[in-house]
This record gives sequence, C-alpha cells and structure tokens, in this order.
Amino acid sequence: MNTSEFRRRGKEMVDYVANYMEGIEGRQVYPDVEPGYLRPLIPAAAPEEPDTFEDIINDVEKIIMPGAASPACTELETVMMDWLGKMLELPKSFLAEKAGEGGGVIQGSASEATLVALLAARTKVIHRLQAASPELTQAAIMEKLVAYSSDQAHSSVERAGLIGGVKLKAIPSDGNFAMRASALQEALERDKAAGLIPFFVVATLGTTTCCSFDNLLEVGPICNKEDMWLHVDAAYAGSAFICPEFRHLLNGVEFADSFNFNPHKWLLVNFDCSAMWVKKRTDLTGAFRLDPTYLKHSHQDSGLITDYRHWQIPLGRRFRSLKMWFVFRMYGVKGLQAYIRKGSNKVNEALLQRINSAKKIHLVPCHLRDKFVLRFAICSRTVESAHVQRAWEHIKELAANVLQAERE
Ligand code: PLP
Repeated sequence: MNTSEFRRRGKEMVDYVANYMEGIEGRQVYPDVEPGYLRPLIPAAAPEEPDTFEDIINDVEKIIMPGAASPACTELETVMMDWLGKMLELPKSFLAEKAGEGGGVIQGSASEATLVALLAARTKVIHRLQAASPELTQAAIMEKLVAYSSDQAHSSVERAGLIGGVKLKAIPSDGNFAMRASALQEALERDKAAGLIPFFVVATLGTTTCCSFDNLLEVGPICNKEDMWLHVDAAYAGSAFICPEFRHLLNGVEFADSFNFNPHKWLLVNFDCSAMWVKKRTDLTGAFRLDPTYLKHSHQDSGLITDYRHWQIPLGRRFRSLKMWFVFRMYGVKGLQAYIRKGSNKVNEALLQRINSAKKIHLVPCHLRDKFVLRFAICSRTVESAHVQRAWEHIKELAANVLQAERE
C-alpha cells in the first residue's frame, strides 16, 4: 500500500469507527455465536495472492462483528496461528485445527515466550518428580533444576532463568557458533553426576550475534531422550522459514515442545506480535491456570474454547490477530515470500546499470548459479579506506533510488 492509499484507507477507517460509535446502540451486546463459529467462515490457509482491502473490510463486518469482543478475538487468533504455522510448514502437532493437542498463541515478545516455556517446563518437571516421590518439596526440586542454552543465546534466555529461579548454563558453541550434541551431552552428564536435574533447553535458530543456528537435529533427540523441554527461539530469523528454500533451517522443530518467532520483526506485522506454538497446550494451562469466580464462564470446562489467559502471564489481551489477518491477506503468501527474498535479479541489474551509468565507480557482475551478483573488487594499490567508504555511500544512495522507483 503506497502512502496515498494509506491516507485514503486511514480516513475510511476513522469513518468506520465513527459510524460504529454512532450506531452502537443498535448492536447486540452479548454475541449469540457458538464456540468455534469463526473457523468455518474463513479459508483454512492464508491466500497465496493478495486480497483486496475492500474484501477484508467487508469480512470484518461479516465475520468479526457478530463475535463482538472476546469470542472473535480468541477464535481469529487460533486460526491465524494455524495459517502462520502452515506457512512455515510446522508439524501438524503444533496446530490447533482438528482439535489437536497443540496450538499457537500471540505473546508480546520472544522474551515472554521463553519465560512462559521455562515456567511451564518447570511446573511439568516438578509435577513429574512429585508424582514419583511425593515427599519431595517444590523448593528441594527447584534447587536442583538446571536449564541450558548456547553461549550465543539472547540475554532474554538468561533472564528467563533468573526470573524463573533456576540455574541456566551456557553450552560452549562450536566453530560455527552452533550448539552441538557433544557439548550439550557433556554438560548433562556432568550435571547429572553432581545431582542436578536437567529440565529445559533453549535452541536458537538465528542468533542475535551472528545469525548462527544451533543444531536442532542433534540437540532435539537428546532433549526427547532425557525428558527435557525443548524451546526453539527463532525470534528474528524465523520469518524466513515461510520461503521453501529456507525451510530446511527449521528441520528438527519436530523434536521441540515449543517454538517462537517474532512476525513483528520481519513479517510486516506491526509491533507487538510474537508467535508461539506448543505441542501440548495442557503443559501451559496446567502450569498457569487459576479460575476466580469473576473469570468463570459457561464454557469453562467444555473443551470447546481456548482460554488464552491460561497461556500467558497477563490476563488482559489485545486483538492482535487482526493485524496478522490484514497483513497475510493484503500481501498473500507470495507477497510475504517476496518481501523476505527482498530483491530479484531484475533489481540488482537495475542497480548495476545505475552504478555504471553514474561513472563514479565501475562494477563487473557475475552469475552465481541463477543469482545476478554485483562484485565489488578492489585492485588498485592507491585505494584507501576513505575511497571504499565513499563508494559504499554512493552504492547505498543508488540502491535507495532503485527501490524507490520499484515502489512507484
Ligand atoms: N531471541 C533472539 C534470537 C533475538 O534476536 C531477540 C531480539 O532481538 C530476542 C530473543 C528478544 O526479543 P524480544 O524483544 O521480542 O523479547
């Protein structure tokens, strides 16, 4: 959407809200939709090609408004998380459709997702150990719990350990900054021999420092064998997995208990929108559930509805799935993939043409398999750092012009 369309649509939206406020007394206060009403009304997966803005707005009136407030908010979130899970080709066990055990939830941040996973894993291991040895107190178990991540993991992982009151150990990464089986196994053996209880591992796909990838195919089976919860943090790189050529980087997610990435980082959804999936939703609801009288409702234990308050730390929640719905439909899967791939051979060819016609520097291209590549080769004895800097500024300026021309 260019700026003039944005201006027009924005004004239409203000009119829509103002009309809603003017006509609010004519609307029903309590919805008469049944649990699960929304899923059959929309497609089972995101569209490949973009939908029009008019179609989306019409659907808001037809599909969202009858589920005034909470039912629509919850149900659209569940379906949008399935749409996104399908775009990533997540294993079916992470999806909520067909009343499986898994499902997705929108958290505010990757930090929250890691913390929620760690707290759920902590409760799960405590319940398991107490079932086998009822005399064990929670405090006695907590003292011995130990979690692991690579030494390249984001600081939010260490923070989750701090908040969760458990030890978190950094596993030395290998020469490619990846956590590997041997280093994890070594730490596990050492800690178990010292009487500690390993219970939680965070593997990162796309580290903040250098976008390295922990080896999920090695680490995953160890976690499953040792009964440790595996959380996969792909906060910023995860959006790339919607492209088939990058999907292999997610292989091994089938071993995970929970997986998270931030569509608000690289998938065009505005902040905040951190997508988290779990294989077994009862792991979360079992850890965080409390039902005071003022939050009870008629479908409480029917199993028909998702109560997201049990999946997260806050109680209140925003209607964040609307952002996903709009973005996925306005771009279509193909548009989102094109955004991740950012730039075709055509754009690179246009950039080269501009650079060489400006005549300030000269580049010679090549093809690497089917990619058109601009080569920046420095061969002269007299070149200094300042020349390279100047050339880079020049290239950046021309690249911005090419991208601007593409948008117009
Ligand atoms: N994990 C990784 C790999 C990150 O790159 C980041 C932030 O850049 C985070 C976690 C924390 O993200 P958030 O700000 O959503 O908590």
